[in-house]
Amino acid sequence: MTEPKPSRIAIVGTGMVGATTAYTLLLRQRVTELVLIDANRDKALGDALDMNHGLPFVGQTKIWAGDYPDCADADIVIIAAGAAQKPGETRLDLLKRNAGILEDIIERVTAHNRNGILLVATNPVDILAYLCWKKSGWPARRVIGSGTLLDSARFRYLIGQALRIDPRHVHAHIVGEHGDSEVPLWSTANVAGKTVELSEAERRRIFEQTRDAAYEIIRAKGATYYAIALALDRICAAILRDEAAVLPVSTLADGYRGISDVYLGLPCVVDRTGVREIIDLPMTAEEEALLKASAAKLRERIDEMLA
Ligand code: NAD
Repeated sequence: MTEPKPSRIAIVGTGMVGATTAYTLLLRQRVTELVLIDANRDKALGDALDMNHGLPFVGQTKIWAGDYPDCADADIVIIAAGAAQKPGETRLDLLKRNAGILEDIIERVTAHNRNGILLVATNPVDILAYLCWKKSGWPARRVIGSGTLLDSARFRYLIGQALRIDPRHVHAHIVGEHGDSEVPLWSTANVAGKTVELSEAERRRIFEQTRDAAYEIIRAKGATYYAIALALDRICAAILRDEAAVLPVSTLADGYRGISDVYLGLPCVVDRTGVREIIDLPMTAEEEALLKASAAKLRERIDEMLA
């Protein structure tokens, strides 16, 4: 009998986000092989050793500190390298710093891997996912940004708190930029099909706490990593298990409600091939106008980056 083909995820950038994602993937036994790559090789080495020592409590996963040739057989390459947001710094301020780092990484990854899926987490994630798509030359469906999946999780959590409902049973989406111009789709937010009934003031509070959550956490402890790690794990599960899960990830809009040539968070069907399709959610004229404004802002930043 032939052994089943091992599944492999490579993580480039094993700082707070990358290492926590590796640990989450390990605990959930998502893959048989986990490769950790970081410019600071000692960090990747230390993380690999530390996690290997947990294997007697978890199960069989091969984890090692590797290098770009190890991306060759990866089903998914997660990119979490780069500089983290500083207190008070907007995500867009990070752009110039991280664009150069990611271009270099994509060149190295694609020298060894042609058929995997790139999953980008580095901020500003929509703009950098767009850059990775351009730089890789891969079809857009195989270059995915974590997008507004984390924001939507924060949104669902806060709505769940207000309604005293398990957030897993709250259906609600944040779309657009993962950042200041993101858009809450209140018109389709529901529990078991019932529209979420909350006062204007409550809605405003919930959205503002959702939008500003990263600033709050960074102020308190310097970085955010647990929830993003779970979000990245969720996307990996959808890909590896060919789930066709509906997740608001960052993808290329190509004529979506008149929006084109920009990556932004939209509810997508995610399966083994990556983003199979974008769901055309109903939205009010006001929500659509906000989404278009978010897309225009992202497009401006892309132009600034490419200038
Ligand atoms: P961190 O500083 O802890 O880790 C970054 C790691 O990248 C470091 O270990 C560093 O050595 C490594 N690195 C830098 N340049 C590299 C290169 N050229 N090649 C390989 N590795 C390199 O930062 P963090 O807190 O882990 O955050 C990482 C990124 O994730 C940031 O851009 C942050 O804003 C972003 N982030 C995104 C989301 C999201 O929802 N998309 C959520 C949280 C954080």
